[in-house]
Amino acid sequence: MAKDDCVFCKIARKEIPVKLVYESENFIAFLDVHPKVKGHTLIIPKKHFVNIIDLPSDLGSELLDVIKRVFEIRQEEGAEGFNLIMNNFPAAGQLVIHAHLHFLPRKKGDKGFKSI
Ligand code: AMP
Repeated sequence: MAKDDCVFCKIARKEIPVKLVYESENFIAFLDVHPKVKGHTLIIPKKHFVNIIDLPSDLGSELLDVIKRVFEIRQEEGAEGFNLIMNNFPAAGQLVIHAHLHFLPRKKGDKGFKSI
């Protein structure tokens, strides 16, 4: 399952270069090209699922492991916490219609991002 015109499918196929953060069997984590904070990372499934509703439940455990691994990597660079944001459907601000989690590293007292 892939879409020729999907930018994140192209990233998953290594046709568009990214700053890779971590890769597992079914997911890839890379730096957002327009970071909201330092280390702003996107976590995407390699296959084309449009949002979290479309994502097969049996990938949930691996996704959780990837989130934990990305936090370990960011902790090594000083992160003390993180926000996870996921825009699902255009009505919620989803611009790239390929499921992705925004992982935003945080430090106590930082001013870089206003969380909800
Ligand atoms: P959204 O669909 O609104 O949740 O956000 C899509 C995100 O993808 C934005 O933060 C973009 O900066 C990011 N983005 C789009 N194209 C690329 C790319 N080629 N490499 C890295 N990040 C990207």
